[in-house]
Amino acid sequence: MTPDWVLLDRHTTGPLLHPGDAAFHDSSAAFNERWAHRSPAAVLRAADRADVLRAIDWARDHGVPIVPRGGGHSYAGHSVNSGLVVDLRALDVITVDPGSGQVTVGGGVLTGALYAALRPHGLALPLGNGAGVGIAGLALGGGSAATSRRLGLTADTLRATTLATAAGTVLTCDDQQNEDLYWACRGGGGGNFGINLDLTFQAVEAPAAATCLLLWDVAHAPAVLAAVQHLMRTAPDETSLRLGVATSGGRTLVSTVGLHLGPAADLRDLLAPALAAGQPLRAEIADRDFWDAMDYLKHETSGGAFAVRTHFAADPLPAEAVDAALARIAEAPRSGNADGCGLALFGWGGAINRVDPQATAFVHRDAQYLVSLDTSWLPGEDPAPHLDWLAGLDHLIAAHTTGGAYLNFTDPDLRDWRTAYYGANYPRLVATKRRHDPDGLFAFPQSIGS
Ligand SMILES: Cc1cc2nc3c(=O)[nH]c(=O)nc-3n(C[C@H](O)[C@H](O)[C@H](O)COP(=O)(O)OP(=O)(O)OC[C@H]3O[C@@H](n4cnc5c(N)ncnc54)[C@H](O)[C@@H]3O)c2cc1C
Repeated sequence: MTPDWVLLDRHTTGPLLHPGDAAFHDSSAAFNERWAHRSPAAVLRAADRADVLRAIDWARDHGVPIVPRGGGHSYAGHSVNSGLVVDLRALDVITVDPGSGQVTVGGGVLTGALYAALRPHGLALPLGNGAGVGIAGLALGGGSAATSRRLGLTADTLRATTLATAAGTVLTCDDQQNEDLYWACRGGGGGNFGINLDLTFQAVEAPAAATCLLLWDVAHAPAVLAAVQHLMRTAPDETSLRLGVATSGGRTLVSTVGLHLGPAADLRDLLAPALAAGQPLRAEIADRDFWDAMDYLKHETSGGAFAVRTHFAADPLPAEAVDAALARIAEAPRSGNADGCGLALFGWGGAINRVDPQATAFVHRDAQYLVSLDTSWLPGEDPAPHLDWLAGLDHLIAAHTTGGAYLNFTDPDLRDWRTAYYGANYPRLVATKRRHDPDGLFAFPQSIGS
């Protein structure tokens, strides 16, 4: 059947945009410019829930692929297809109940807006570091934050969600109703089961905070990496560190960026072995109001095209793997993209690991580190040398990790993604998908059941 776009336009309130329309690019372009060549036939900027439901019915009846789009930050560009993109950003209502601490957000709310809404109430949720990231995309894939070792994943704080399904029905999903979907929406990944119209989270009182930013020359890398990995292993749940080695424009730096939900003096004591491992070029350790700490930790990559591989690790990387990775980083191909490339270890564990791996769809509950390997280039540059380099770095690191990968740092080049993202939870996710979307209306590369 030829898609009747006029019919869709007539029955929806929000604008239906086509290539060439002024807002089309803003509503459809992937954040990762690796996917800049992808473009849908049309974008519906949904004005409300009714628009979302009409778009689902129309796409199903006309055989047009449909994907929801929140912040557009999927590393793999999974929120842009060749058919209909539903831009959800107008579903942006945030309701805070200060008494219970329950917070309900529309399916298109972005992280920065939610932080701003929580601040006047002194409430905190474990949200990530990118202000433009969509809350639905973040929570559905797990959602790790600097506060997660204390507060859990974003998904762990999800108490209910309203889902528009492939059949065009609206289901409330919580621990009493549609429990299979409630389970799947906590780690099963965005775009798989329907379009989440709203999500309700349990927030807690915002704690006191301190932050650190330590930078070293790469000459200190072996000693600093050993010291920081070791102290990350024994740090309290209140402390979350991100240890990185990054190279850009011929300069390689080692960094430790982190949050401590307590006094800076305690953080300074904890970091003493790292500071003793090498003279830092910069060392900022300071008490901060919780919200200033969140701002301090906020980051957006500068743009361009990038690729990321992830692993979970239970133990520090051994010295020989660190040495091999440092040698590989030293020979990274040059690019005009200032983001460069490198590796990072995010502190995992704490409250994340106190949830049973089968209790939610998010299975990675036994790691101590999330290892993230990345490379970047500019559109127009040949990606091949960067991707080859990343594969080589991955080969050096993979042997020292558990085999899992982090769904939210989506890796389109991952072959065994079903096991890597979902482990033993995959069959249950497939069964849930078949029950609620038997014809696979919500499909994309790496969608459940594909
Ligand atoms: C700069 C940057 C910073 C980041 N920081 C963090 C971080 O600190 N912690 C972390 O865990 N991750 C982080 N991420 C990864 C991020 O969580 C994921 O990429 C997330 O899926 C992005 O969600 P989105 O809505 O912005 O992206 P989109 O590309 O719009 O959506 C991602 C997926 O979710 C689907 N989706 C979106 N909205 C809905 C909805 N309402 N209902 C159903 N499906 C939906 C889309 O179809 C797509 O499959 C970061 C990414 C970037 C680029």
